[in-house]
Amino acid sequence: MDDMVKPIIPRVEAEVVAVKHLTPHMQRITVGGAALESFLRTEDVETPAAWVKVFLPSGEGRAYTIRQINRENQTLDLDFVLHHNEDSYSPASSWAFHAQKGERITLAGPRAGGFALPDDAAWVILAGDVTALPAIQNIAANLPATVRARVYVEVPTPEDQQTIQSPAALSVVWLEPRQRPGLALGQRVLYRPFPLGPGYVWVAGESRIAKELRAHYLRERYLERHRVRTEGYWKVGKADHREG
Ligand SMILES: Cc1cc2nc3c(=O)[nH]c(=O)nc-3n(C[C@H](O)[C@H](O)[C@H](O)COP(=O)(O)OP(=O)(O)OC[C@H]3O[C@@H](n4cnc5c(N)ncnc54)[C@H](O)[C@@H]3O)c2cc1C
Repeated sequence: MDDMVKPIIPRVEAEVVAVKHLTPHMQRITVGGAALESFLRTEDVETPAAWVKVFLPSGEGRAYTIRQINRENQTLDLDFVLHHNEDSYSPASSWAFHAQKGERITLAGPRAGGFALPDDAAWVILAGDVTALPAIQNIAANLPATVRARVYVEVPTPEDQQTIQSPAALSVVWLEPRQRPGLALGQRVLYRPFPLGPGYVWVAGESRIAKELRAHYLRERYLERHRVRTEGYWKVGKADHREG
């Protein structure tokens, strides 16, 4: 294939079949519809932390994790963080807050989540803010029982904590936000000793903390590149942020 030709990302129409207020800052939108059948058969859809670009009825698109798939009903769950921004309009968060059954959206993808656990990993660190919680839940559910996982999640309020299920042995630390997004997370995980043996670190959340932790693990802790994956899921003050 010509290197200059970008692969076409398939798009499917989906319909909102249920809306559930999970926690104060998280709204679950379950989508279904006949067109999803082929989408649910694609290879990447069940990779841990797989995501889609959701095109809202307004036409604007934002990235969301496929939290879970229900194959019997041919539906998938997308968990939207409800963030209240006084300074700017946030199309996806606002839409999710008001979403109604029967509304139609378009999904582009699925895209692989980029979680690539090395075969020799004895431990894994999963760290993120509330936007990463659906991905962390999805990753945790798919971990092998042989690894030990340490999970750190910064959530807006204690009521935003959720159950994280996994076949692996998990220790979960919930963190309360401090002066800026990700600060509490950073302060908690920086310089913590690693468990014994080779491992893997996965971080997602606000862009600045994702970058800070990447630099820390690669340059100060000397982890090899294939043992660190960080994702800037959003950026303070920037709409529809995409990491370069
Ligand atoms: C691969 C991937 C997977 C993702 N998965 C999820 C997911 O499962 N659930 C989820 O909720 N988000 C997820 N995100 C993050 C989500 O795409 C962004 O938060 C997105 O910007 C939200 O769109 P919006 O229309 O609400 O706000 P935008 O229009 O993009 O931004 C408007 C303003 O709101 C601010 N803002 C955006 N997001 C937040 C936030 N979370 N908290 C506070 N301020 C914010 C921006 O800085 C900007 O000032 C994911 C991102 C990526 C790249």
